[in-house]
Formats: sequence, structure tokens, C-alpha cells
Amino acid sequence: MTRSTRLQQTMPKPKKPQSLLRDDFSFPTFSGLPKEPEKELNLKYHDACLFKFKPKKHWCFLGEIVDSVGLERVTLRVKDKDGQIGTIRLYTDDGGKALDPRIEKGHTVAVLYGEQHCFTDMSVGIRVEDASNIKIIPCSLEQLLKASDDMAVLREGQPTQCGSCGKADCKALVGVQWFTTRRWEKFQECFSF
Ligand SMILES: [Zn+2]
Repeated sequence: MTRSTRLQQTMPKPKKPQSLLRDDFSFPTFSGLPKEPEKELNLKYHDACLFKFKPKKHWCFLGEIVDSVGLERVTLRVKDKDGQIGTIRLYTDDGGKALDPRIEKGHTVAVLYGEQHCFTDMSVGIRVEDASNIKIIPCSLEQLLKASDDMAVLREGQPTQCGSCGKADCKALVGVQWFTTRRWEKFQECFSF
């Protein structure tokens, strides 16, 4: 068995450094996610207080759905910003049934506060235990990143229409606004979708 293979192809390089979703600290790839703090505490992401670990900043994994392979539990094969494929599996009460109708290959999955987990099949990924930490955005990761780039250029106010497709209700534009209307540097309480 092999670990997830790194694809030759990677997502386009950032055009503008201030494009929010290109920031690998707040929007890490599979390999950039903090490890499960019980195993290896990463003080950039977690605080230890008494016997609990708490996020000390906001972060969100973003990836593109390549395949859906779960039977009892929703299990997604997902390609991250670096082109690495990993696994996202739902351990919520319903095993992800509520999410199921929204799953579509090529669309983007976002997971808040994900921790890097090594599954028994040796694939790297994220265990999702809270349904409010995961959502599917109905556009490709590339479209979402592009919308984030456009937002960075148009710093003054929110654009009323998408710079790429011209639509006001563009899915990528609506999707990226959830992120750009929040402050990612300052942590008080966890976000949820
Ligand atoms: Zn658009």
C-alpha cells in the first residue's frame, strides 16, 4: 500500500499574495494541517488548557472532490491546493447522510479546524466529527481560488458581480464571500458553517 501520490499537476500559483484562500496558514493543505494534538501538539494552531485542546486560530481545509467512496460513512477522496489526494471521512451521527445529496465530483469541500489523520489504509486526511464543520461549495477549487484572487484585487467593498463569469449569483463568488467576510487572524469563538 502506498501513501497518496502527489500529482505532477498543481493548482495555479498565486497571482496576488493577499488572496485570502491562497494563504497556507489559514487554509492549509493536507500536509500543512496540524496533527491531532493528542499526538503532536502544534502551538500555532492549538492551545492546551487543562486536559483539553482548543483551536487558537481559525483555519479551513479546502479541496476538490475527486471521488466519493464511502458506504456506511461518507468518505471522499479529495485533491488539495497542492494537488495531493487525501481522504475525508465523516464520523458524524448520521455518517454524513445529510451531506450526501450535495456531493459532486469537481466541487469543493471545506472543512473547518481539520486535523491531519492517518487512516488505517495509510491514506492521509481528516476525520470530521461535527457536521457544522463541513460544507460543499458548488464550484471547482480553481474557481473558488480565482474568486478569492478577484476579491483581493477589489479590496474596496464587495464586488456585485463575478469578475470571471459576470454573474451576480456566481457560486464561486457567493462561496468565497463566506470566507472574506470573516476575520481569520483573530480568534474568539470557533466558526461553523
Ligand atoms: Zn463566476
